[in-house]
Amino acid sequence: MTDWQRELRAQFPIVAAHPDIAYLDSAATAQKPQPVLTAVMEYLTSENANAARGTYPWANRTTARVEQARDRVRAFLGDPVPARSGVHFVSGATEGLRAVARDWLAPQLRDGDEIVVPYADHNANIVPWHEAAALARARGVQVTLRAMPYDAAHDYDTARLAALVTPRTRLIAATHVHHVYGNDMHVSRLRAAAGPDVPICLDAAQSVGHLPISVAGLDVDFLVFSGHKAMALPGTGAVWARNQRGPEYVPAGWPGTPNTSGIVSLVAALDWLDAAGVDRIADWTRELGARLTDGLSGLGAYQVLGCQHSLAAASDVQRRQGIVTFRHREIGSADLGFILAADGLLVRSDGHCQGDQGEKASSVRVSLHAYNTVQEIDRLLERLADLNSG
Ligand code: PLP
Repeated sequence: MTDWQRELRAQFPIVAAHPDIAYLDSAATAQKPQPVLTAVMEYLTSENANAARGTYPWANRTTARVEQARDRVRAFLGDPVPARSGVHFVSGATEGLRAVARDWLAPQLRDGDEIVVPYADHNANIVPWHEAAALARARGVQVTLRAMPYDAAHDYDTARLAALVTPRTRLIAATHVHHVYGNDMHVSRLRAAAGPDVPICLDAAQSVGHLPISVAGLDVDFLVFSGHKAMALPGTGAVWARNQRGPEYVPAGWPGTPNTSGIVSLVAALDWLDAAGVDRIADWTRELGARLTDGLSGLGAYQVLGCQHSLAAASDVQRRQGIVTFRHREIGSADLGFILAADGLLVRSDGHCQGDQGEKASSVRVSLHAYNTVQEIDRLLERLADLNSG
């Protein structure tokens, strides 16, 4: 462990409280560093109030905190022109994608419009687009959902996508990092395929906090993420929207009470991630993921899912983030999950909310973050080696 890693790990009280546990399920939700917990505690015990309602100082300061949090999110996402974008706080990526689908897209849909849906990605990025089409249908408007094409490396096939885009394409939904394969999709290539006018909505649930993000570089119109996967409290998330795409998406007013303590935690989490260095976290978790993949390749009973052939190419290895999903050829994934949990190795095992289940219907996913260690990976590999003969 390097000093940098040791220092980071020491900031997670849950890690210190459970020295025998290896938490390997950060793609589901990330653990919280002490500064995030402290920020929430301080807020709730010093000036907790509702936002945009009262006229007393606590209320005014809470309102200001929420407004400043929008700027913090913009800055974290590398938004170069804040004045032309909006940030809307939501409970997580699912709610964020639903908000774009329901509140922005659905009301504009006209007969014959088309939406491109990534069916092999997380179902939080599939169902909302069907809901938008259903809302349109309820007012007599027929919308066609087109399947996003993929290549053999499970990236988007931009040549086939370009052929799919028509003047009726109203939105392309895409994902930044796949939650099962862990590959960093070539999102910046989507714009050329989409053309300048088709809005792209990006599900960044598995990339915010794991990869440096630049909405300008990615050239998307909406970016949605879950705060809780980026070390903020559960029930947090945000939609970043480029406003020059059609009607202003982000509501100007304040509908309902925002999750103020959650938003406080999100700001603290983004500050923590920036201080830790997201690029270093990306390198670290990639390194751990590669160690696990290498180790598994020597164990004949296991099959790593995703694009095996591309693992050989250095550029593709670089694009695999800290998520490794595999199956045992004989032991069922749920059983494997239980066996590992009995040894304090907490992994995810099931179908992983994936739209197109196919061969991935049941598998074990190991997903890593800043607090994970080489020792944890080696401990996991040792236990998997014990089960190698089935
Ligand atoms: N999108 C992806 C790629 C995910 O991995 C997840 C959660 O696992 C979601 C969306 C949904 O996130 P949330 O549960 O925070 O709404």
